[in-house]
Amino acid sequence: MSEIETETLFTRIRDREIPADFVYEDDEIMAFRDVNPQAPLHVLVVPKEPIPTVNDLEPRHAELIGRMFLVARDIAREEGVADEGYRLAMNTNAAGGQAVYHIHLHLMGGRQMSWPPG
Ligand code: 5GP
Repeated sequence: MSEIETETLFTRIRDREIPADFVYEDDEIMAFRDVNPQAPLHVLVVPKEPIPTVNDLEPRHAELIGRMFLVARDIAREEGVADEGYRLAMNTNAAGGQAVYHIHLHLMGGRQMSWPPG
């Protein structure tokens, strides 16, 4: 059981202590371009609340998680990849490839994705 961190890399981006290329922001959700993009379009959709992993989600987060998908869908449309296709992914813990323990939805597009992922 991990302790809930109040400050994460992404809260520092949220609080403008670290610069990022924002593409969306509202009261609960922000989205900015990944600093090390794995595709021509690679945006992270992030709740402002620093929920560490999917394992830490509570029923009260259900609407927030749903809105994160709607934000990702809208960005995919705006960035012109909605029709050709894109990938949404949320890595969880070490074996899932998670590096930043503040949940985030990867939106990747602009190239052909392979399956299964590495
Ligand atoms: P994870 O491996 O936790 O699913 O994904 C973390 C993502 O955050 C990685 O794709 C990584 O490139 C991105 N990232 C790490 N540090 C920064 C940063 O300082 N700024 C931005 N914009 N993205 C970051």
